[in-house]
Amino acid sequence: VSSLLTRCRTFKVLVIGDSAVGKTCLTHRLCAADFPCRVEATIGVDFRERQLDIHGEKIKLQLWDTAGQERFRKSMVQHYYRNVHAVLFIYDVTCPTSFSSLAAWIEECRQNSLGQEIPRFLVGNKGDLRDPSRTDGQVSQEQAMSFAKAHGMMCFETSAKNPPNKCGNVEDIVVALGVKL
Ligand code: GDP
Ligand code: MG
Repeated sequence: VSSLLTRCRTFKVLVIGDSAVGKTCLTHRLCAADFPCRVEATIGVDFRERQLDIHGEKIKLQLWDTAGQERFRKSMVQHYYRNVHAVLFIYDVTCPTSFSSLAAWIEECRQNSLGQEIPRFLVGNKGDLRDPSRTDGQVSQEQAMSFAKAHGMMCFETSAKNPPNKCGNVEDIVVALGVKL
């Protein structure tokens, strides 16, 4: 009888990055497959869940959508990283400062997850706003790939608003997460 019961493991996935890069919208896209018409600034942390079927095994991703610069982050940050299974580092491809901030976010992760080897993913959001005719003011895919390689991360470019094909590579992120966990 036990073989008929479906196992369902839950994984905690942290969504990290500067304010306004689209963490809340991306979390929404990953879990609800749509783009919210209005988002409030995140206070502290919000949770969303997504169930996945990976090679016949059901798993549940519990996404922790965190706030970027709230004052009380310091007191919350240890809770964020406690028993975490994966971290998504989000930046905005049209906002180079959000890319520069990644080093600090990675350092926060390192400090709060001592001893744990956590799968980490680099996610460039707002790909729909990329202007191919411009070379400045945007983060190139080459920059992202070399950064990801240097930090041993998988990298993706996507758009919470207008993903390449319906759920597009947002779906790839979910699957990669499921496979890595
Ligand atoms: P957070 O602070 O990182 O949680 O960012 P939000 O999810 O609240 O998004 C900040 C703003 O960026 C909102 O106005 C969103 O509508 C917008 N936004 C988020 N993702 C995308 C995207 O992929 N493309 C575009 N064009 N706008 C986006
Ligand atoms: Mg938010």
